[in-house]
Amino acid sequence: MINSSNLLFNQQLIRNDFLSLGESFYSQVTPTALKNPRWLHINAAVADSLGITIDSLREKGLPLLSGQTVLKEHPAIAMIYAGHQFGGYSPQLGDGRALLIAQYQTPNGIVDIQLKGAGKTPYSRFGDGRAVLRSSIREYLAGEAMHALGIPTTRALCLIGSDEPVMRERPETGAIVTRTAKTHIRFGHFEYFHYTGKLDALKTLADYVINTLMPAAAEADNPYQKLFEISVINTAKMIARWQAVGFAHGVMNTDNMSIIGETLDYGPYGFLDDYEPHFICNHSDTHGRYAFDEQPSIGLWNLNALGHALSSLLNEDEIKITLARYEPTIVTEYAILMRDKLGLSASDSSDQELCSSLLNIMQQDKMDYSDTFRRLSRFGMNESNDDFIECFKQQDKISAWCEQYRQRLQQENKPEQARQNQMLATNPKFIARNYHLQSVIEQAEQGNYQTLDDLLTVLQSPFDEHPEFEHYATPPPASGKHLSISCSS
Ligand code: AMP
Ligand code: MG
Repeated sequence: MINSSNLLFNQQLIRNDFLSLGESFYSQVTPTALKNPRWLHINAAVADSLGITIDSLREKGLPLLSGQTVLKEHPAIAMIYAGHQFGGYSPQLGDGRALLIAQYQTPNGIVDIQLKGAGKTPYSRFGDGRAVLRSSIREYLAGEAMHALGIPTTRALCLIGSDEPVMRERPETGAIVTRTAKTHIRFGHFEYFHYTGKLDALKTLADYVINTLMPAAAEADNPYQKLFEISVINTAKMIARWQAVGFAHGVMNTDNMSIIGETLDYGPYGFLDDYEPHFICNHSDTHGRYAFDEQPSIGLWNLNALGHALSSLLNEDEIKITLARYEPTIVTEYAILMRDKLGLSASDSSDQELCSSLLNIMQQDKMDYSDTFRRLSRFGMNESNDDFIECFKQQDKISAWCEQYRQRLQQENKPEQARQNQMLATNPKFIARNYHLQSVIEQAEQGNYQTLDDLLTVLQSPFDEHPEFEHYATPPPASGKHLSISCSS
C-alpha cells in the first residue's frame, strides 16, 4: 500500500465521493498486478486536462495505474450494477474487470479514474478480470476520436501493456486502460436497486447523481423527474450525434448506457465505411438489434427500462411525459447536425428531403459515408463539381441532386468560402475505421507503437488535413470493409 501523497495526484484534488454511499453500492477490491507492466502510450491531452505532466506520470504513475499499488486513503472499488443485455434482464453484472481508483477534481469538474483490466472482482462471473491489448487499443482510440468529433464520451489517460498471458480465441497479452469519465454510473445501476427491491439505496443513488452531476436537477421542483429528463435529453442528443457521424456502438445494453449520456464501453464498435444504414458491427448481434439504424429506437427502449427502474421515485405520468421528450429531441438534433453537414445555416422545409435523397443515392451506390461528406464540403456553386460526381455510379441521379443542392445553397446566400470552411470543420477527414485500427493493433502486437501514435494524432484533430497521413483518410479496399471484429475483449 502506498500513500497518495507520494504519487502523481495532488492530495488536495483527489477524492472518492462514491465511497461515501456505502458498501451496498460496490465492493472494495485489491487490483491484481499485471506481469511486467510497461507504458505503451500516454495521452497528453487527457493528462493535461487533469493537470498532470507527462513527465510526472511517466516517473510516478506506473505502479498505481498498472495495479501494483493502491492509494491508501482511497480503496479501489468495483461498482455493482445490472442491465438488460440484448433485451433480456441480467440481474447482476457490475464491474467485472474495472476498478474505480479515485475521483479527481479538475477545473471542468470531477472526473472518475478507472482501471480497466486490473483483475478479478466479485462481479467477474466467468471472466478473468483482464482486458487484452487489442481491445484496449480500440477503447483508447475510440474515446479520443469521439471526443474530437464533439460527442460526449469517456476518454483514456494512458495505455499500459504487459507480459500477462490472457487467453481469448488465441493467446494474447493483458493491458490496462486508465479510463476517465464524468461518471461510470449506468442505467443498469438503477435497474439493480429497483429489481432487488432496495428502494432506499436507489433513492440514495439518485440523490448522489443529482447532487454531484446534475446541478439543474438539484434546483428543480421535482429533482427525480429532472434527473430522468436530463438522461433522456442527453441520450437523445448523444445518439443523434452517433447517427450524424456514422458511429455504431455495437452493444447498447442498458449496462453500457451512461446516466449522463456519455458514450461508454467501447467494444466491437464501428464507424460506417459505405453508407449502409443497417450496418451491424457486432458479429454476435445475429438479429441486428444494435444495427446502426436501430440505435435511435434502442435508445428509447433503454430509456424505457430506466424509467421503469425509477418507478419508485416517479409516477407513471411523470415517466411518460419525460420519455415523450426523446423523439422530438433526437429528430430535431439530427436535423440540425445533418444541416450542418450540408453547410446549411437556416432551416428550410425541403432540407429533410434534400438530405435523405443524398443518403439514398449514397446507399445505392455504396458510397463511403464520411468521405462523401468531406468531398461535398468543397462543392462549388459555379463549378462543375466533376470530382464529386465522378465518384458515384448513378451520375444522372447525383447530378440532379447537385442541381437541387445548388439551388438550396443559393437561397442561403452565404459566401462560398465561409460555407466550405464550416463544412470542413463539420465533416471529418479522419474517423476510427476498423481497417486502420486493425493495422495499428497488428503493429502494436509486434511492439511498434508509432502507428498508434500517428492514428491518435489524426483522430484528435480529425478536421485538419494532415497531408502526411493521407492514408488514414482513404476509405478501405473492399476486403477491409466488413472486418470480423471479435467481441471477446
Ligand atoms: P461488456 O459486454 O464488456 O459491457 O461486459 C458485460 C459484463 O461482463 C460487465 O459486467 C463486465 O464487467 C463483464 N466482463 C466482461 N469481460 C470480462 C472479463 N474479461 N472479466 C470479467 N468480467 C468481464
Ligand atoms: Mg459493459
